[in-house]
Amino acid sequence: MVQTKGYATHDASAKFGPFDFERRDVGDSDILIDILYAGICHSDIHQAKGEWGNSTFPMVPGHEIIGRVKQIGSSVTKFADGDIAGIGCFVDSCRECVNCERDVEQWCIKGCAQTYNSTEMDRSTPTYGGYSKHYVIDQEYALTVAADQNLEGIAPLLCAGITTYSPLRRFEAGPGMKVGVIGLGGLGHMAVKLAAAMGAEVTVFSTSPGKEEDATGLGAHHFVVTRDPKALKPLAGSFDLLIDAVSAEHDLNMYLDLLSFEGKLVLVGAPEKPLPVNSFSLIVNNRSLVGSGIGGIRETQEMLDFCAEHNVTADVEVINITQIEEAYDRTIRADVRYRFVIDMQTF
Ligand code: NAP
Ligand code: ZN
Ligand code: ZN
Repeated sequence: MVQTKGYATHDASAKFGPFDFERRDVGDSDILIDILYAGICHSDIHQAKGEWGNSTFPMVPGHEIIGRVKQIGSSVTKFADGDIAGIGCFVDSCRECVNCERDVEQWCIKGCAQTYNSTEMDRSTPTYGGYSKHYVIDQEYALTVAADQNLEGIAPLLCAGITTYSPLRRFEAGPGMKVGVIGLGGLGHMAVKLAAAMGAEVTVFSTSPGKEEDATGLGAHHFVVTRDPKALKPLAGSFDLLIDAVSAEHDLNMYLDLLSFEGKLVLVGAPEKPLPVNSFSLIVNNRSLVGSGIGGIRETQEMLDFCAEHNVTADVEVINITQIEEAYDRTIRADVRYRFVIDMQTF
């Protein structure tokens, strides 16, 4: 076994602290990485605080992982020692079901092995995430990263990047399309950068008036403060696509009303409580409310390659491992510009 250590929380109201544990031995098709950076996703917070009702402890969160390959198994061809590798939200799947076959392993019919708060495919070995020093993963579930600089800005692409890239691609964001991004946090700021890189006209809907200048810098063309719902009235029926990346309770209907004929609101945010929908918010203009969850390995690699080509990375605040609690508190207060990333060399 590979001895390693991470930062874990032991129940939904506990604080994070050092935690020693083991990873499996490096198998023939595995790589061992030294983790360099791990992003803090709001999903880590929902799970660490037990908000989704599926938490298992001790929990070492983290599914936006960038590391350097330290060891490779005998049959590994995708990576060499010293390469940079990425790990996203899952680390294995059954590899044979209809969804694995269609490259959406995150929806493996048998249930994929998530990066943490889950088990390996043996259904008994717990998985621990990226707030740790090492990870052992099958080469097929790790992503290749050509860059060797600004790796802290690449880490968040592994979740925030793919989660927003996938629906933007699926609904063909591009020139002539009006895209709205609701909630300018980790996911939201990636949605703005990616939609702008794809050529769409981008509007940010935010509860934080202070983020306007940032939004423009990220590539947004318009910025709307949503604290007063009246501000949205003149925009009714004018958007083709909305990406809703809000982490807390909010009024979906007020945003559905913004959609034009056959417009789509994609829910990527996953608040703790259900969000009520009025029938007429969907009936009018034949609108759709759809969901989207991360992306498969093939599409995640495509997203990383797109970001490399278009020079897209996350805007990050790099923190020490001892600052996790502070970063969680600030993220919950929507005071993140725009992703906290843990520098694992501080541990
Ligand atoms: P985040 O960085 O905390 O950003 C969330 C943003 O939502 C905030 O910055 C804020 O933006 C807005 N917001 C927060 N509280 C609000 C409230 N009470 N009312 C209205 N707006 C509020 O979170 P994130 O990491 O981007 O994640 C966003 C959500 O997506 C989370 O629920 C997360 O679990 C989920 N998620 C889903 C997937 C998936 O596959 N579907 C993947 C990753 C994450 P403003 O200041 O601009 O209002
Ligand atoms: Zn995430
Ligand atoms: Zn499967």
